[in-house]
Amino acid sequence: MKLIKATAEIKKDMKKHRFRGRSIGFVPTMGTLHQGHLSLVEQSKKENNITVVSIFVNPTQFAPGEDFAAYPRDFETDKKALRELGVDILFLPGGREIYPDGYSTYVEVEKPGQVLCGRTRPTHFRGVTTVVLKLFNIVTPDNAYFGRKDAQQAVIIKKMVKDLDLDVTIRTLPIVRAADGLALSSRNTYLSRDEREAALALSRGLRKAEQFVGDGLRKAADIKQIIEKELETGELIKIDYIEVVSLTTLEPFDAGNKDAEIDVNNTLTAAAIWVGKTRLIDNFILGDI
Ligand code: AMP
Repeated sequence: MKLIKATAEIKKDMKKHRFRGRSIGFVPTMGTLHQGHLSLVEQSKKENNITVVSIFVNPTQFAPGEDFAAYPRDFETDKKALRELGVDILFLPGGREIYPDGYSTYVEVEKPGQVLCGRTRPTHFRGVTTVVLKLFNIVTPDNAYFGRKDAQQAVIIKKMVKDLDLDVTIRTLPIVRAADGLALSSRNTYLSRDEREAALALSRGLRKAEQFVGDGLRKAADIKQIIEKELETGELIKIDYIEVVSLTTLEPFDAGNKDAEIDVNNTLTAAAIWVGKTRLIDNFILGDI
């Protein structure tokens, strides 16, 4: 596995691979890798000649007061895991490599970036799309891999690719969970034992709602209520949002009509909660991203 820190160097390498007709798979991450990230890497390895992984804790997707400085970093363990999976190139740019002095260009997918997580974190997705577009330009992947755990992010990136005619296929993969149901997340390392126990209400609520939908429940408001009830059992939990939205537009089904029904082929049910100081997200999807 080749470790590259400089943009100019990886660009040169990618040019060489493209010239030789090799397909390129790309997995952008912020590190502290778990099986969720590694499932993306494994898929990329299966589908491409060359797999590139980036680790970059992207400052522009954190608002002031969020956990940018505290975000977990465990580079040696990450490097070992990626080497074992046979990753070809690990791109590890420094902050100034991506955002040199005087940097001032941003890309924003307007509407879907302002709902769900975008309401609580209004500058978050602009940071994500900016860095992802930059990384796409640097790595020039044929396929890029994203997890459905961050479903809104995947929808937004797909929209950016479509709107800007980018020459990359976005592949999304299922949420990987711990045995107790908690969706794997680098931020789970923040949780105390009690918080982790409380956090399980999130996956439990979503699973329950998904089962009810499987049994024929269709009203968006009822789906939300099932999740809300489950989350209210946890004392340490504060709900950020619970939404049932169209997977394409991210607009809530029950916005103008409290009796509105979901589209069983195109629905994202997503929730975000605070457990102490840690913000966690989870979802289930009916349809395809
Ligand atoms: P991050 O390092 O949090 O930016 O995540 C990098 C990629 O891994 C994103 O595409 C995430 O959606 C994906 N990812 C994170 N957690 C999971 C998970 N539990 N299951 C599947 N994919 C995940």
